Amino acid sequence: METTIVVGAGQAGAEVVSKLRDLGYDDRIILIGQENYLPYQRPPLSKKYMAGEMALERLFLRPKEFYNNEGIELHIGKSALKINPDEQNINLLDRVLKYDHLVLTTGSEPRELPHYSTSNIKNLFTMRDLTDANSIEPFMKIGMRLLIVGGGYIGLEAAATAQKFGVDVTLVELQDRILKRVAAKETSDYIRSLHISKGVKIKEATGLEKLTIKRDKVVSASFTDNSNINVDFVIVGIGITPNTKLAEDTDITVNNGIFVNERCQTSISNIYAAGDCASFNYKNTLVRLESVGNAIDQATIVAQNILRKNATYLPKPWFWSDQYDLKLQIAGLNTGYDNVVVRGDKSKQLSHWYFKGSELLAIDALNDPRAYMIGKKLIEANKSPSKEQIKDQDFNLKALLK
Ligand code: ADP
Repeated sequence: METTIVVGAGQAGAEVVSKLRDLGYDDRIILIGQENYLPYQRPPLSKKYMAGEMALERLFLRPKEFYNNEGIELHIGKSALKINPDEQNINLLDRVLKYDHLVLTTGSEPRELPHYSTSNIKNLFTMRDLTDANSIEPFMKIGMRLLIVGGGYIGLEAAATAQKFGVDVTLVELQDRILKRVAAKETSDYIRSLHISKGVKIKEATGLEKLTIKRDKVVSASFTDNSNINVDFVIVGIGITPNTKLAEDTDITVNNGIFVNERCQTSISNIYAAGDCASFNYKNTLVRLESVGNAIDQATIVAQNILRKNATYLPKPWFWSDQYDLKLQIAGLNTGYDNVVVRGDKSKQLSHWYFKGSELLAIDALNDPRAYMIGKKLIEANKSPSKEQIKDQDFNLKALLK
């Protein structure tokens, strides 16, 4: 009998253990997670869950009985402190557990503002886990004044949710436009006008100068444009850093994430990594994908390889964001794009297609699931339509897939 230990009970970790059982793995499985919850879905936190439209039970990936029935040993509320690769064991606070295969699905931590910590300021939050969502929820009331720091998808989704509650929202973004890290100007422009039309105040190319704290609470904020506002609470969405400490302490190669090969193995072959914490080569660049799709796909490869199936990972990046009535769907990775072609317009279907030269890299589809599906398939098939074909809405892009 061998033992597989999975450290990190998020989407990727939960997927590894259930895939192992699906694939017929009969040996011992241990899943360790430091949060006090069964593994749950993260994306709804800033969307439906925070909006009160989704019950806690629906957030859990599987009910508790699943783990019992499948003989998966759950250590919830426990942290792995150290990996000892020579002895093939790991230390928890109160015990040592031996493994034959170890999987690191340790995820990521939200970045905090310099100088201001969410741990000692009572109305300053990050938006990453269930505890964050539950702490923010009581503030979501009509007339409350919210400052959001960071105009990435997390900040913007939080803005849309807050707006639904009648919260007065100001969002500040350091770069000259929201979503600059992840999207083209066309997508930023669309999303900015959507938020402004709903009454969100957006300040771009603006930094946070100072938060004024009174009795453990932020009461006002001033900005580099010399303006200032009074606030009731603050949400910080300025990106995440992968949790790599366990790997680093063990001399496992870390490079903007725990580096894995196409089999999802780290530099120690019986230690795997998957999900947000893992970095890997994709089209000659080092990437880390913060998405459910990647967590599931990498977890599947890990489970297959633990079962000695010699599986290799072929990334098919996809993401989504919901804000108000907008359903944004993204396929591919736009890293290195040099031009963007627009198909359709705001009144009908709209999609933004990212190219590097004549190679199609990625697509943002805005309320256009059809364009998303076709774009995704084209990218996965390595097929690039011409820019004229994309601009011409009468041209049937699907025909290119034949
Ligand atoms: P997330 O997943 O949290 O949305 P992203 O990295 O996609 O992460 O977006 C975070 C955004 O926050 C980026 O647009 C970045 O420019 C912005 N940002 C980072 N630091 C600050 C800061 N101190 N003030 C305002 N915006 C910031």
